[in-house]
Amino acid sequence: MKITNKFKVPETLMTLANRSSYSKGKADYSVTEIISSPRIKRLQSAHWSEMQQDVSEMLWSLMGSALHVVAENGQTENHITEERLFVEVDGVTLSGAIDLQHIVGGQCEITDYKFTSVWSLMNEKPEWVTQQNIYAWLVWKSKGIEVRSVRICALLRDWNRRDTVKDGYPPAPIQVVELPLWPLEKTEAYVKERIALHQSAKFLQDMEDELPLCTDEDRWVRGDKWAVKRDGRKTAIRVFEVEEEAIELAKKENGYVEYRKGEPIRCTGNYCSVSAWCSQYQQEINSGDEGSGLRPEGGA
Ligand code: SF4
Repeated sequence: MKITNKFKVPETLMTLANRSSYSKGKADYSVTEIISSPRIKRLQSAHWSEMQQDVSEMLWSLMGSALHVVAENGQTENHITEERLFVEVDGVTLSGAIDLQHIVGGQCEITDYKFTSVWSLMNEKPEWVTQQNIYAWLVWKSKGIEVRSVRICALLRDWNRRDTVKDGYPPAPIQVVELPLWPLEKTEAYVKERIALHQSAKFLQDMEDELPLCTDEDRWVRGDKWAVKRDGRKTAIRVFEVEEEAIELAKKENGYVEYRKGEPIRCTGNYCSVSAWCSQYQQEINSGDEGSGLRPEGGA
């Protein structure tokens, strides 16, 4: 992948961007890769030499690299920072880099730093749970150390003090979130299932339905919504995630219900590096069904 510099930012950032372009060491797969969609991984392998990203779009990944340096400087007793672990499983090597392992009484507590949005913190992120549990499994398999807890330390890039009066809004821009720990057998079964899925897609072409489609979860589809509207008013009175609730309010307000199709944010929001080569997404664009628009439906 080529990193460009359209806005002539200092060369230091270019060097950092090139250095930090993701490495999984001598592994076949990284933890983030096996959690992610086989379609994305396969298309990245096929089009890596054609892919481009401008350094100006890499702000948060550069900040992530900077944070790792800061974390290493803050090294404390019994803290292991930035360790990459490798495990052989079903003939392939899986690796994962763990931000922080804190050894307490012979057991390990794992913490992963994430620059993220307030929205992500306030909504469920099942991939955080999966990723941290695979790290726990890697620690157990490669070092024989039992992990007793996993957590995220979220650094909220869009936190605003004025919004703290809102219900559920995080009270500070750094939040520690404890995550559930899976039994090791469950994690191992998951790892093997995902590796098998990726291995089976390894040589498939993105044509004639060969390559498995991305799921709604892979595509970060934000669910369907129903907006209650009224003639003569530009904005919706209220937006619901449950159609029946919208219909009920529309009756009271003498309005109507407008259906808003869920949107695959990863595809439409330029968060997928291979969207230009992906037949699943390109076919949706060509058929006008990529889910970014409104589709009025029904009334009350
Ligand atoms: S564009 Fe969307 S559907 Fe295609 S690979 Fe990326 S996330 Fe999956």
